[in-house]
Amino acid sequence: MAVFNQVEFDNHEQVVFCADEASGLRAIIAVHSTKLGPAVGGCRLWDYAKDEDAVYDVLRLSKGMTYKNAVARLPFGGGKSVIIGDAKEIKSEALFRAFGKHLERLGGSYYSAEDVNITTGDVMMMHKETNYVLGLEGKSGNPSPFTALGTFLGIKAAYQHKHGHQDLAGVKVAVQGLGAVAYGLCKHLHEAGAQLFVTDINQASIDRVVSEFGATAVGIDEIYDLDVDVYAPCALGATLNDNTIPRLKATVIAGCANNQLAESRHGEILREKGVLYAPDYVINAGGIINVYYETKPEGYNKEQATKHVEGIYDTLTEIFARSESEQKSTHIIADELAQEIIAQGL
Ligand code: NAD
Repeated sequence: MAVFNQVEFDNHEQVVFCADEASGLRAIIAVHSTKLGPAVGGCRLWDYAKDEDAVYDVLRLSKGMTYKNAVARLPFGGGKSVIIGDAKEIKSEALFRAFGKHLERLGGSYYSAEDVNITTGDVMMMHKETNYVLGLEGKSGNPSPFTALGTFLGIKAAYQHKHGHQDLAGVKVAVQGLGAVAYGLCKHLHEAGAQLFVTDINQASIDRVVSEFGATAVGIDEIYDLDVDVYAPCALGATLNDNTIPRLKATVIAGCANNQLAESRHGEILREKGVLYAPDYVINAGGIINVYYETKPEGYNKEQATKHVEGIYDTLTEIFARSESEQKSTHIIADELAQEIIAQGL
C-alpha cells in the first residue's frame, strides 16, 4: 500500500497503527500538524472494508482538522483517529481503555474526542487511561447548540453578502437532516422569521420541527428541487454533486454537514452558477470552538466560547469578499486562509 505518495498524506507528522490483542483493538491515529498546537480531532469507529480505506479516511480527516482548527483561530493542530470494527459488536470498556493507553503514549501531541459511532461515554472510558481527550461529560457539554449558532450566523453572513441585508424574515430555507445541530438551527431560523422546508429519514424528527417551528415537511429527494433562497445541508456529505447542483435553486448554500462538496470542482461549478457556498469546515466550527474553552486553565466559560463562535460570521464575510475579488471559489479561499494562518501563526 502506497502511503507517503498518497495525496492525503500531505506531510503528516506522524501516523500510528495501534493494536491490542485482548480487546481486539485495531486503530490508526494520524497527526497531520502540531504547528499551531496539539493536534485535536475526534475518533471515528467504522467498519472499513479494507485497511487501505481506513488509512485514506484518517489521513483525509486529519488534514481537514488542521485547516478547520486554523481557520477557527484555535491554538490546535490537526489530527484524527479511527478504530476499525463494527460499532454494534466491538465496543467494550477494554477496547476504549486500550485505545486510551495508546493516546497516553503519544504524550499529548494528539487529543481525541467523539466522532461518528463514538459517544461521550466511550471517551470517558478512554479517559480512565489518559488525559489526552476532550469533550468530556461535565465540562464544555454538548457541542451541537454551538455548531447550530455558528451555522445560523453563517447563513446570515452569506445572505448579507449575496443580497445586501441579513433580515431572514420570510426567507425560505430548506434544511436537510433534522438532528442535533439542525434542530437548534431551525429554532434560530424560526425566531428570525424564516420559512422552513425540512426533510429527514426519521419521522419523529420531522414532526418535532413541524409542530414547534411551523416547518413544511418535504420528501427526501424533493429537497433539491424546491424554490427556496437557502439550502442548508445538515445530514450527509457529498450532497453538492453533478446530480443535485443543476436542480438547486437556492442562491445561498450554508449548512453544518461535513464534506458537502462531492469533489473540489463542484465548488467552482457553484461559483460559476452565482451560488454562494459557505465552506463547510468554516461554518460548522462552533462545536470545536466550544470544546477549546474546556482546555482553558481558568476553566470553561460559556460567554467566551459563544463570543468566539460568533466570529464565524466575520471569517465567512472575509472569505466571501476574497472569493469575489480574487474570482476563486469560497472553498479554495478557505484553504488558502488556513495555509496563511498556519504559516504565520495565530
Ligand atoms: P445527527 O446524527 O444528530 O443528525 C443527522 C440527521 O440527519 C439525523 O436526524 C438523520 O436521521 C438525518 N439523515 C440521515 N440521512 C438522511 C438523508 N438521506 N436525508 C435526510 N436526513 C437524513 O448529527 P448532527 O450532530 O446534527 O450532525 C449533522 C451534520 O453536521 C453531520 O454531517 C456532522 O458531521 C456535522 N457536524 C456536526 C457537529 C456537531 O456539533 N454535532 C459539528 C460539526 C459538523
